[in-house]
Amino acid sequence: MPAVRNPSRSPLFRIVTIASSGMGSFVLGVWGLKFALGDSVGGLSSDTVGAIIAALCALAASIAAASFFAGVDESADYVFNETHYDKLTGLMARTAMVGKIAEAASATARTGRPVFLIDIDIDRFKQINDAIGYSNGDALIRAFTARLKAALPSDVVLGRIGAGEFAILYPDQMLSSSLEALIDRLIHDLMRPYPLPSHLQSVNVSVGVVAMPKDGYDPVVLLRRSNLALQNARASGIGGWAVFQPEMGRVADHRQWVESELHIAFERGDFDLHYQPQLDLSSGRVVGYEALLRWRHPERGMISPAEFISVAEETGMIAPIGEWVLRKACIDARQLPDDCFVAVNISPVQFMTRDFLGIVERIMKETGIEPKRLELELTESAMMQDRDRAALILKQLTAIGISVAVDDFGTGYSNLAYLIDFSFHKLKIDRSFVSRMETDSNSGAVVSTIVGLSRALGVRTIAEGVETEHQATLLKAAGCQEVQGYFFGRPAPLEIGDPALTQPTAPASIIH
Ligand code: C2E
Ligand code: CA
Ligand code: CA
Repeated sequence: MPAVRNPSRSPLFRIVTIASSGMGSFVLGVWGLKFALGDSVGGLSSDTVGAIIAALCALAASIAAASFFAGVDESADYVFNETHYDKLTGLMARTAMVGKIAEAASATARTGRPVFLIDIDIDRFKQINDAIGYSNGDALIRAFTARLKAALPSDVVLGRIGAGEFAILYPDQMLSSSLEALIDRLIHDLMRPYPLPSHLQSVNVSVGVVAMPKDGYDPVVLLRRSNLALQNARASGIGGWAVFQPEMGRVADHRQWVESELHIAFERGDFDLHYQPQLDLSSGRVVGYEALLRWRHPERGMISPAEFISVAEETGMIAPIGEWVLRKACIDARQLPDDCFVAVNISPVQFMTRDFLGIVERIMKETGIEPKRLELELTESAMMQDRDRAALILKQLTAIGISVAVDDFGTGYSNLAYLIDFSFHKLKIDRSFVSRMETDSNSGAVVSTIVGLSRALGVRTIAEGVETEHQATLLKAAGCQEVQGYFFGRPAPLEIGDPALTQPTAPASIIH
């Protein structure tokens, strides 16, 4: 291991060190002269010369000792600063934060006054950092820190405890209103897009909270619990937050199991694709099939994509899995009727991969699928991560002839301005609106608005999660062109020669 070099050693320290060693050399020189010239040096008696040498020796030794200890002190300060403060942001680093949490925990034990440990994480920061490059990633972290500082009182303890993870110690008595109000405001501030040197970057944040002394005193346990709450919040969607609950430990154990098992499952070939038909409401014909990933575990049976896609995204496993899905769907398309397309879900993480377009083009070449038979389903959040890059990729996909559907439309962003910048071909109305259409007039209004919007933009609309005939009729009346849902067909494995794949499945009552 190389010696720690202290770049901040002061000039004074350097001069004193050089002077003391110089004086040491001078004394040695005089001593040498005394030996060479005998007892009398320059007319001084041997005793006098001896006394001068002894005095100079003592002086050099004490200066050297003083400068040594000053150097030790400076080095200790240096090492302390290196390990206690984060270089990029100047915030406290994780080790220092652990110390501060321990102090806060023992103070709450004495006073009984609660202190909250708030854990804030930029979702998928690692993937963002890889996609936008490290200098942009650093700029993002600095801008994020500046916003965090601006949103908090200056005497609140704040640290950076992971690449995109921050922790705050917030005493209950400093809350001006409620904890909810504080966190909602933090999330709102932190999720506004960040102007970086190269582009405007959007991020999602998730927040986990533990309360001391209620949730414990041990800083390591407290950090683990706040992180469990955070992961729970992340699973709940964009800009979520959660307060720690004891049962979150079990959820985390399951997540851990999924993480450790995903790789093996992929290698072992546990994955398969099921296909769900999409119908044109005016003709009642099946026009396409959405490929939906299925994991059949040899011991635990079916595991839902809702349980493993997010884990695959966090661990990076989504890249090989997503590529496999795309390739398999393009190969399977040969067994689908010629006039049907195959719709493939693309994770935001996959979409952000540097070579996303290259992968799509390679798979198209390998499988020979016609571009018009491929549709990619992308969520709004995938497009919003880096708008300029997303706009460019969408344009390139359109130029190749691949169509793009905006999945889960209406659940992500309220700002519709981005729609103008992006080339896409379909809006996919989220299941949550369809399921409430029959009972909630607001949902009906949202559906009509989305249909109107898509007409204005010159794109098609498809509604997902259609479970009843009544929903289908309402959707048709609202002007929606395509439908998908259990009412028309559940996701099913592809079986060669299956008549369900070729026959129109919409009942006549809906078509006419
Ligand atoms: P999604 O893209 O919104 O897919 C639609 C989900 O709704 C599917 O759930 C489908 O089985 C379900 N569904 C379809 N019709 C109905 C209905 O009438 N009623 C109800 N209640 N549900 C219906 P699934 O297959 O469990 O997939 C869940 C999510 O996992 C998908 O939501 C998608 O986001 C993700 N996913 C699935 N396959 C893939 C994949 O290959 N790649 C990626 N990145 N994500 C995938
Ligand atoms: Ca989808
Ligand atoms: Ca959806």
